[in-house]
Amino acid sequence: MSGKIYQPGESYHYQLTITKLLMTPLAYSPNQEIVYRDKFRYTYKDFNIRIHKLANALAGLGVKEGDTVCVFDYDSHRYLECFFAVPMMGAVLHTMNWRLSPDQILYTMNHAEDDIVLINSDFLPILEEIWDKLETVKKVVVLYEDGMVETKLKIDAVYEDMVEAAADFYDFPDLDENTRATTFYTTGTTGAPKGVFFSHRQLVIHAMSTAMMVGSYDSPCRFRSSDVYMPITPMFHVHAWGIPYLAVLLGCKQVYPGKYEPEMLLKLILTEKVTFSHCVPTILHMLVSSPVVKKIDLSNWKVVIGGAAFSKGLAKATWDLGIKAITGYGMSETCPVLTIANLKEDMLGLDNDRITDVIIKTGLPIPLAELAIMGPDGKLLPHDGETTGELVARTPWLTASYFKDEERAKDLWHDGWLHTGDVAYVDTEGYFKITDRLKDVIKTGGEWISSLELENLVSQHQAVSEAAAIGIPDVKWGERPMIAVVLKPEFKDAVTNDEMKSFMMKFVDDGRIPKYGLPDRFEFVDAIPKTSVGKINKIALRERFGK
Ligand code: AMP
Repeated sequence: MSGKIYQPGESYHYQLTITKLLMTPLAYSPNQEIVYRDKFRYTYKDFNIRIHKLANALAGLGVKEGDTVCVFDYDSHRYLECFFAVPMMGAVLHTMNWRLSPDQILYTMNHAEDDIVLINSDFLPILEEIWDKLETVKKVVVLYEDGMVETKLKIDAVYEDMVEAAADFYDFPDLDENTRATTFYTTGTTGAPKGVFFSHRQLVIHAMSTAMMVGSYDSPCRFRSSDVYMPITPMFHVHAWGIPYLAVLLGCKQVYPGKYEPEMLLKLILTEKVTFSHCVPTILHMLVSSPVVKKIDLSNWKVVIGGAAFSKGLAKATWDLGIKAITGYGMSETCPVLTIANLKEDMLGLDNDRITDVIIKTGLPIPLAELAIMGPDGKLLPHDGETTGELVARTPWLTASYFKDEERAKDLWHDGWLHTGDVAYVDTEGYFKITDRLKDVIKTGGEWISSLELENLVSQHQAVSEAAAIGIPDVKWGERPMIAVVLKPEFKDAVTNDEMKSFMMKFVDDGRIPKYGLPDRFEFVDAIPKTSVGKINKIALRERFGK
C-alpha cells in the first residue's frame, strides 16, 4: 500500500479504512466461498484478486481518487467487489436505487456528480432514457450474464471482460479514514431525493459495532464466522445494512441472490445452507405465507427484520415455522444499524409467545450507539415505558449532513443529536419501541394514536395477512384511525367491518388502546401499496382513502 514516507521514531497513523476489513478473512479463511445464485462461486482469495483487478480496470477507464462511481446491479459478487475496490481506490461508491423513477435517478446522478456508471444490462433502458440530460457521466461499463440487451448507448467496457484482462495487483493508497467512501439517496415525502454519505471510518466502526451486537451476545439470531450469510435487503439500500462488510470481516460463507425471486431465495437457503439473513417484513411475509415454506425445514435460518415494524402476527407465524427472527432498526441516515432486539440472558428460555413479545420491540442500542428520546422542547425524556418522544441518536457512523444540502440537514441535525423523525418510548428493561413516524401518528381529538400499534394488534386476527393504519381527516376529531386490511386467501370476503371492529374492541377492553383509538373503518384491499424499498406507502393510502 502506498502512502507517506515515515521518519524514524514517527508512529504509523493507523486509519480505519475499508482495506483493513480484508486482512482478517484473508488470514483466517482464504478458501471460504462467496457464491452468486446458482451461477458462480469463488474463494475469498480470488475475491481479493478480483478487487485488485477491478481497481486496475477502473483506473484504466480514468477513475481516480475523489471520483464517483455509480453502480446499478442486483445483489451480486460483482457488487461486493465494488463495495471494496471503489472506496479502496479513494473513489466514492454511489449505490443506485434502480426502483426510483427515471427523473429521480437522473437527479441523483447529476447531484452526486457521477463520473462513471457500472450498470446491469437490465437497467440500460433507464440509462438510455436519461442519457442526454446526464451532466457528468463520462463512461459506461455494462454488467451482464444472460446476454446483452440492444442499446443505443456507447459502451466503454464489459465488466467481466475488463476485470479478466486487468493486472492482479493494484497499489491501493493509504487513505485518510475520513475519506468519503459511499453515497446514496433517500426519497422523503416531499422535495428532491437527499444524499447521505459515509466515510471509511464510519463504515468500519459500524461493521465492528454491529458484529459485536450480533455475534458476542447470546441471542437466537447470533451471526458468527461459521454462519452462511445471504442478504435480502438490496445492496443499493444502505449497503445492504452494512452487513456485507461485516460478513467479509468475519470471513464467513456468503451467498448473493441476484434479483430477488422467491423460488431462487428459497433454493439458495436450502442448497447453500444459508443460516443468516436480513430483510424487511414484506419479504418475510411473502416467504412465510408461501405454501412451499410450510413443507420445508427452515429451522436453521436466522433473520433480522428491519426497515419497518415487525408485527406480532408475523413474528408468531415466523417463529412457529422454526425460523428465528428478531427486529433491527435504523435508517438511511444512520448507516443504518442503531438497535437490535437481542434477548437478554434471562429471556433466552422463554416460550415462543413471550419471546415474540420481546423480539418485536425495536431493540437495545448496539455498542457505541447513544440513543435517547426527546420532547418538542429539546429536553430528554424519562425511560419509563410510557413517555414517548422523538428518537434521537449519536454514534460514530451517522451521516454528517445531506450531501450539498445543508439547509435540509438542519432538520436532521440539531441540539447535537441526529433526529430520526421516529416516535418511541423506552421500557424499563432499556428496550426502545417505535410507536410511529412523527408524520404517521394518528392525531384524534388532541390525542396521539400509534399507527404501528394498531397494525400490530390487527395482525393478530387469524384472517389478516397484512394491514396498514392511517389517520383520515375528520371535521370533529381532526383525524380518525382507519385500517386497510389484506385478508388471507382462505378468508377472502368472509370478514366484515363489524367483526374487525369487535376484534379490536377487546384491546380497548384490556387497555391496550384507548377508546378513541378504536378504528371505526376497515377497508379490505387486495394489496397494500409499497414504496421503492418495500415499505408501506402511507402517502398513497392517505391519497386513496383520505378524501
Ligand atoms: P430508510 O431510511 O428508508 O431505511 O427508513 C428508515 C425508517 O424506517 C426509520 O426512520 C423508521 O421509521 C423505519 N424503520 C426502520 N426500522 C424499523 C423498525 N424496526 N421498526 C419500526 N420502524 C422502522
